[in-house]
Amino acid sequence: MINERVLSAKAFEQAQKVIPGGVNSPVRALKSVGTTPLFVKEAKGAYFTDIDDNKFIDFCMSWGVFILGHNNERVSQAAIEAVGRGSSYGIPTLAETTLAEKVREAIPSMERLRFVNSGTEATMSAIRVARGFTGRDILVKFEGNYHGHADHLLVAAGSGVANISNASSAGVPQDFVKHTVVLPYNDTAALRKYFDENGQKVAALIVEPVACNMGVVVPTEEFIKATREVTEQNGAILIFDEVITGFRLSRGGAQQRFGIKPDMTTVGKIAGGGFPAAAFGGRADIMKCLAPDGPVYQAGTLSGNPVAMAAGIETLTQLSQPGFYEDLEKKSNDFIEKLEKIIAGKNITLNHCGSMFTLFFRSSEEDCSVKNFQDTKRSDQERFARYFRNMLSCGIYVSPSQFEGNFISACHTPEILDYVLKSIAESI
Ligand SMILES: *Cc1c(COP(=O)(O)O)cnc(C)c1O
Repeated sequence: MINERVLSAKAFEQAQKVIPGGVNSPVRALKSVGTTPLFVKEAKGAYFTDIDDNKFIDFCMSWGVFILGHNNERVSQAAIEAVGRGSSYGIPTLAETTLAEKVREAIPSMERLRFVNSGTEATMSAIRVARGFTGRDILVKFEGNYHGHADHLLVAAGSGVANISNASSAGVPQDFVKHTVVLPYNDTAALRKYFDENGQKVAALIVEPVACNMGVVVPTEEFIKATREVTEQNGAILIFDEVITGFRLSRGGAQQRFGIKPDMTTVGKIAGGGFPAAAFGGRADIMKCLAPDGPVYQAGTLSGNPVAMAAGIETLTQLSQPGFYEDLEKKSNDFIEKLEKIIAGKNITLNHCGSMFTLFFRSSEEDCSVKNFQDTKRSDQERFARYFRNMLSCGIYVSPSQFEGNFISACHTPEILDYVLKSIAESI
């Protein structure tokens, strides 16, 4: 049974007096699902425990970071040992090269790569390099895709931004976004038309190869192939933002799953093993533009941090065990199959890819496929909020927004997943 969240409520009061909204990232506030945040005490495997001693099955998993489950013993041990050697130097370490080699082994299109501290930094830096390389300004992105919170990317963005009424952010001058062009996701005709007319002016096309920040939305084969074709034909750089999908949808991310080779890739979340690390990389000739070899500046005091590198190395080592992704995929497919039966006839759309899924709630019978941002925005957010709170009372923390994905980890056993299915069936 779930206790009253007395201590979390108190902690939230206190936090709000010093941290805006009481949280350091907006979706954590649970505002859009009509409740107040949980404060976590500890986490292990598929579970976390809040400060009121309620234990929850976690489907957010730090937004997809913990594919091995929370607090994986060997990952934590590697980080602890690294701390014992000093936690930052601002001088190169062997671990940076080791992790870079491991990332490239998994994602060979990242011929050269550089580590940063967050996904935001990774996409921001990748775009700067793409602009420096091409000498062009225009960036094309898709509606409902989220690429972090850099100014020029906060246009029609997904994730937490999707809960802000104008789907964008205050504090971003119009001049900063004038080179950002937004096209609808999964609309191959619109993509071809834009590139037919303007392709020669485009520096880069950035895309979530499976969208995860408007809820999970899978691209059509035609659409994702077209992103490669139009950029290639026009000398524009294709950037796959695999901050979520990298090491998630296969060892080599979405690009391996789809057999498409982008010019540049960003990874994050899983790559840092639960520590602040992300990377951007791609073709060697493009990455050569970076300082100190080239004219594009990019830097970071804590970039390639040895603790994060140690956790990343141990994580990627475990992910390279034979059968890891096959097992995860099979378990996820079984779960999805059962879930599909449970929601049949209930005005709910289930989108999924590998170990990620989203349930889109609708208020009435209507066309039910969810292919783009406009479709996701037709969801019944009140109904989603009720579902979220119901699940919470069953001891299950699903990702707290209609515009986010849920993540199955190696620690979500079939028994845990069966309990979740039973709870969803009762809840809806
Ligand atoms: C999470 C995410 C980002 C931003 O990463 P942060 O580490 O939160 O800055 C960028 N792109 C995608 C696809 C993401 O899911």
